[in-house]
Amino acid sequence: MKGLIAWIVLFLALVPGVAGARDVALAPATCALGADSQAAALALPVSALDCSRGRFLQGERFVRLHADLPEPIAATEQLYWRVDPALFDSILLQLRWQDGSTSSLRIDPETAARNWTAPLYSAFALPAPPGGRLVAIDAVVERPRTLAVLRDAHIVDADTLSRNHYGASLIAMLTIGMLLVPVFHTLIFHRLLRAPFILWHAGMALSMAVFVLMHSGLIFAALPDFPLAWRWQLNSGAFVASIVCAAYFTTGLLEKGTLPPGWRRMILLALIPPVALKLLLLADLEAVRPYAGRFFAYSYAPLMIVLPAALIHALRRGSRAAGFTLFGFGGVAIGGAAIMIEISGLLLGQLGADVILRGSLVLMSLATSAAVADRFMVMRMQLDRERSRAARLGAMAYTDALTGLANRRAFDESAVLREGYGLIVADLDHFKRINDEGGHDAGDRVLVRVADTLRRVYEDCTQATTYRLGGEEFAAIVPADDPAELARHAEALRAAIEGDRGGEAALWALTASIGAAQGRNQALGDAFSEADEAMYRAKRQGRNRCNVPGISSAPAEDVPGDVWERVRSRI
Ligand code: GH3
Ligand code: MG
Ligand code: MG
Repeated sequence: MKGLIAWIVLFLALVPGVAGARDVALAPATCALGADSQAAALALPVSALDCSRGRFLQGERFVRLHADLPEPIAATEQLYWRVDPALFDSILLQLRWQDGSTSSLRIDPETAARNWTAPLYSAFALPAPPGGRLVAIDAVVERPRTLAVLRDAHIVDADTLSRNHYGASLIAMLTIGMLLVPVFHTLIFHRLLRAPFILWHAGMALSMAVFVLMHSGLIFAALPDFPLAWRWQLNSGAFVASIVCAAYFTTGLLEKGTLPPGWRRMILLALIPPVALKLLLLADLEAVRPYAGRFFAYSYAPLMIVLPAALIHALRRGSRAAGFTLFGFGGVAIGGAAIMIEISGLLLGQLGADVILRGSLVLMSLATSAAVADRFMVMRMQLDRERSRAARLGAMAYTDALTGLANRRAFDESAVLREGYGLIVADLDHFKRINDEGGHDAGDRVLVRVADTLRRVYEDCTQATTYRLGGEEFAAIVPADDPAELARHAEALRAAIEGDRGGEAALWALTASIGAAQGRNQALGDAFSEADEAMYRAKRQGRNRCNVPGISSAPAEDVPGDVWERVRSRI
């Protein structure tokens, strides 16, 4: 925030240095005259000029400016004529000196571009005066693109020229820099969150930077021979592109449900006039030339109304993003209005409107960047929440709700029982009776207790997985290189269940019958059938024992036998 304030202060500090230039404006003596050559136009007496406002719009090929200087200028220092290089086919200047002599200078757009000075102008050294003081100036412009080519004509001295040039170049460069930064940061955001509005924002900032590069004429500082026609087309083209990007950015940025589709359509419809006008400008038709520049500026009017209105609507529906964006676009609306007022010749000089427009573009770029960052964080948080929810749900799907062990679904997901592993299946003995005598809750508590025992027995065995397959049937997949090792694992479990005298187990003297299968890369279903069968064999052999294929069962006399009777006698 402090950085932003520092930028704004610097920006404002530079404005008076530029705006307060000491120069002589030659407006508004803009006159059309119906001549068919520059020489013929110059030959006409001043009294024959028609300087009424509407004449320019009639699309005359030659337009003449005549200005008697309010105070004759002493040409002891070098004087310069400033004019926008993009706006004419050629200019013939005629200077009248105090002694009645004249000198002239022809300016073509290419030379004008090479003599570019910021902001927006080209400067030409006026011919050294034979007669001391300059009293009047005439200019005949061939095919002016807009009235501004004459209205903004100035005579400046060398000091003012260089002060303007450096100040305005610095502002233009700062503006371009500040517009380019968001391009990079939004592209980084896009790597993390692939939302189209982020790309529209980058497109918007990039085309604004191109617009300022062209519009300020800074392009000529880097590339003096950059074709004028390209600069002219890229200037307005980049501006239209930034407006189109801004519209799509806005409609994409706003939170779902805050901008009804009707408003969205209106925003996109409001893009048609400027895009259509730009296509017309691209054709550079002779007949539309004098109008195009003016109407191009006016063509933004619908968007300047619809976009803020849509944002206010979204803001009232609780959109956070609309607040930031409204702040940004508000500035551009002011800048755009300044340009329109300027073009209609009402209030501001060219310099004022341009400075306001550029300042507002920077404001817009910063405010919309903040909007992108804010939206990014909100969307990212939502995404993270959804991901962890999905992860939780996923984990739930594979967990047995009662015991917290992996469930049957998790068991079935393993396709094979790999070599080096063994499957142990344990079924509690006479469990039904616990339910019958202690109630279902007691049965549940026993199941939880046995699950804990299962976990504890294999907790040191990091590669073991423990399951509750359903009812009072448990399983474990444990690393075991041979049936003997598998049998040790099975016996450890059997002994632990039998030996458990804590909690609910204290009441029931639990036992389990256990079967096992050695892994041979067979399907897990086959391994299960094998282990299940072995487990049932253990049941048949008297319960509370392990049956591991390949290992001879414990002799009958060592087997504690069916313990249920012992259990019953204890309770
Ligand atoms: P055996 O020694 O032959 O295995 O006899 P058993 O009683 O353990 O086996 P049986 O299959 O006859 O009975 C299993 C009982 O487990 C039947 C069922 O009511 C009970 N049961 C299954 N799931 C649950 C459960 O989630 N909670 C409780 N409390 N009981 C369950
Ligand atoms: Mg059982
Ligand atoms: Mg059972």
